Amino acid sequence: SGGENKDFAPLVRLNGIVYLDVVSVDASFDNLDRHMNTIPFYALAPQHDEIKEKLQAALEGVLQSNWYVLGTACENFEKEFKAYHSVPHCVAVGNGIVALYLSLRALDIGPGDEVIEPAHTYVATWLAVSRAGATIVPVDVDQHTWQMEAGPVAQAITARTRAIMPVHLYGFMCDMQAMVRLANSHNLKVVEDNAQGTGATYQGKKAGTFGDCGAFSFYPTKNLGALGDGGAVLCSNNEVRLRIAALRNYGQKERYDATVEGINSRLDEIQAAVLSVKLAQLEKWNERRREIAGWYLSALGGISEVTLPDFQKDVIPSYHIFPVRATERDGLQKHLTAKGIQTMIHYPKPPFRQQVYTQFLKWAESFPVADILANTELSLPIWPGMTHAMVERIGREVKA
Ligand SMILES: *Cc1c(COP(=O)(O)O)cnc(C)c1O
Repeated sequence: SGGENKDFAPLVRLNGIVYLDVVSVDASFDNLDRHMNTIPFYALAPQHDEIKEKLQAALEGVLQSNWYVLGTACENFEKEFKAYHSVPHCVAVGNGIVALYLSLRALDIGPGDEVIEPAHTYVATWLAVSRAGATIVPVDVDQHTWQMEAGPVAQAITARTRAIMPVHLYGFMCDMQAMVRLANSHNLKVVEDNAQGTGATYQGKKAGTFGDCGAFSFYPTKNLGALGDGGAVLCSNNEVRLRIAALRNYGQKERYDATVEGINSRLDEIQAAVLSVKLAQLEKWNERRREIAGWYLSALGGISEVTLPDFQKDVIPSYHIFPVRATERDGLQKHLTAKGIQTMIHYPKPPFRQQVYTQFLKWAESFPVADILANTELSLPIWPGMTHAMVERIGREVKA
């Protein structure tokens, strides 16, 4: 619709997204996406449009309930999320970094303890460890899988090591069998940063269920996203569950009697109700991401300047992000931007090069792969609702 008045950019609605800058309004609806100027890096509208009535009913239900924090919506979501993962316990919290931080606190990891984690990750993985007062021990990621692997982790273990924090970056997974075996043989805790891997599996077992704790983020753009911030911890030990439940609520086990130095970070009822609606769609939406990833694999095949991470056998990724490496990354990104294809870089600066962690700079040469990825990685759009034609167009422009 639109486009008659030449003073206004044509406006077209396709798969729930409103596009403001369609090149040709004469295009038939079927191949409209070929004529659109912009492919956004991420679009939530197609997902939300599918479930709009359910979302509105969930929001209305919370409004009517007159109960907004730590009520039945949160309890219901916790039940559904642990059932989806087949684990005994779930504690929902305010966001992903708190899920990581409280996991460490509940496992009694703090000052004097070393936590091994990847040099290539989102900075939140590091912040959770240093905020807990523990010592970050970074390990470079593997040049083929782009993940932290058990071999280099084994070499970083010292007498002070208390935990390993693998990150299922991009929604691909670490070799969790090797990681858990290593942790067990050294009596170490495992806290998974599964902010990006919700729904991914390794040998049929879901990401976030391998460690002592699995920490999740429900930031809006994650595979399972709230309409705001949200997070959760999965665990199998009831004592750990009770500790996290207290820590998220001022450290109170009983009201008005704080037993530990807690914080306030709870999943509010609105977000919990929204997440219950969206959890029911997660498998379908992840399946669509996998289909889109498959289109990419053929669209990008045979371009030798563009490489993909090695796909681990036994892993079904969640494809939170579709990352490629390109020798001329910045030039490629510029070209795609000029052609209306939005991309991002995950992440342009490894944590050890960010100002907050200057003390790590002296070891920067120990993490060459993290630096290579920071300089060559490019994330292509991937979101449920993308069309085959969009992916083909992106493939053509990458080739160009
Ligand atoms: C998003 C993310 C986090 C933090 O989650 P928030 O909910 O934004 O606090 C942590 N680690 C990784 C790898 C992430 O992608």
